[in-house]
Amino acid sequence: MQIATTRDVLRNAVAALRQDGVGQGRGRIALVPTMGALHEGHLTLVRRAREEADHVVASIFVNPKQFGPNEDLDAYPRQLAEDAALLEAEGCALLWAPTVSEMYPAGFVTNISVAGVSDGLCGAARPGHFDGVATVVCKLFNQVQPDVALFGEKDYQQLAVIRAMARDLDLALPCAESIIGVPTVREADGLAMSSRNRYLSAEQRAAAAALPRAMRTAIAAIEGGADVAGALAALQAEVIAAGFASVDYAELADSTSLAPLTVLGETPARLLIAARIGGTRLIDNMAVSA
Ligand code: AMP
Repeated sequence: MQIATTRDVLRNAVAALRQDGVGQGRGRIALVPTMGALHEGHLTLVRRAREEADHVVASIFVNPKQFGPNEDLDAYPRQLAEDAALLEAEGCALLWAPTVSEMYPAGFVTNISVAGVSDGLCGAARPGHFDGVATVVCKLFNQVQPDVALFGEKDYQQLAVIRAMARDLDLALPCAESIIGVPTVREADGLAMSSRNRYLSAEQRAAAAALPRAMRTAIAAIEGGADVAGALAALQAEVIAAGFASVDYAELADSTSLAPLTVLGETPARLLIAARIGGTRLIDNMAVSA
């Protein structure tokens, strides 16, 4: 696996992969963007990417533009050598690992803001977060020009923002239709895998399993016809009782527009939650059948 840390090296490495196609003569490329500190969720994206293309390019970049002033940018785990070994073992062809100044050279002034879908949920709790995500992902798409790109449903709102950005900006490689969402990979007790889970103490880690458990209870109630507001209130109460410090939001939303829903309608819905345990903010989401 080659590791590129400058745009020049990346461009040449991507061009070489393009020359190396199985069958058709033009290598198909799948991109898996990450912030590193890789776990089984990320590696599942890489495995799925291998099914979609001849070559997998992964990126590791802890993007300062998507962290707020009081968030965990400095504390965010960085372990490039370990991550590179994991990616290589999964058959990744190329790792794109730019520095901050390579990604945002002096004089960088552009911002991509995807209105509407960025506004609620995590966007309300983390102002500017999705602008940072959209801006860096647009740059990654232009730098690598992949045929497909894979993202986790774990970050469901992020996936919706990126799909809207690709559609609205008429991106060609990847086009909006070739942005693939991969179901959330969970620990045995149901907790969604996250690089931030390593911040949890043993006690907090045990308590955190209450989050997906309480979500499943709420979903069963909503699907069974219970009042949505009542089910969401019970969900919040259960999460707090389990040891979480606060709930940023717990919402039922339309699964495409992410518009809040007060009743379960005819179209697919999603239950989304963000809650804090100790100093760690955990997010999760699950499908709700109409
Ligand atoms: P991150 O490094 O946290 O920015 O995540 C990089 C990519 O991996 C994003 O598309 C995430 O949605 C995805 N991802 C993170 N955790 C999981 C998980 N537990 N299951 C599936 N995908 C995940």
